Amino acid sequence: MSQQPLSKQRPVECPCGGAAPNPRSDVKAPRFAQCCGRYIDDGDIAPRALELMRSRYSAFVVGATDYLRATWAPQTCPADLDADTDAPDAPRWLGLQIKAFADTGENSATVEFVARYKVGGRAHRLHELSRFVRGDDGRWRYVDGDIRD
Ligand SMILES: [Zn+2]
Repeated sequence: MSQQPLSKQRPVECPCGGAAPNPRSDVKAPRFAQCCGRYIDDGDIAPRALELMRSRYSAFVVGATDYLRATWAPQTCPADLDADTDAPDAPRWLGLQIKAFADTGENSATVEFVARYKVGGRAHRLHELSRFVRGDDGRWRYVDGDIRD
């Protein structure tokens, strides 16, 4: 596993775009530092699985492997996880859309999303229903998901 630089370049606008079910068209993209950056860089606890999911998308965009690992259930987190954005086959993330968000229990939730990205010039679309659980420490974590379409 490669060591992440302590401080990678962070975007001004949040890559997640503040994605939410039934988005309002008049809302501008939030700033990274006030959106997912609070969770990725400042250690704030995401209040809901929705915010956690958005922050994980943004973490893939900025290559925050440590954050992805910390927000992934240990039993399903890939051992070779590496979100290095400089790798030649690294996806270039284009945008996030949230289709649905639902609490399925006191400490469990699902988020259905579509993430668009390019690899080697080819456009792809990931449509997934993701499952999240909240641990005793109050932190939401990604467990797994079902690919849709
Ligand atoms: Zn965000």
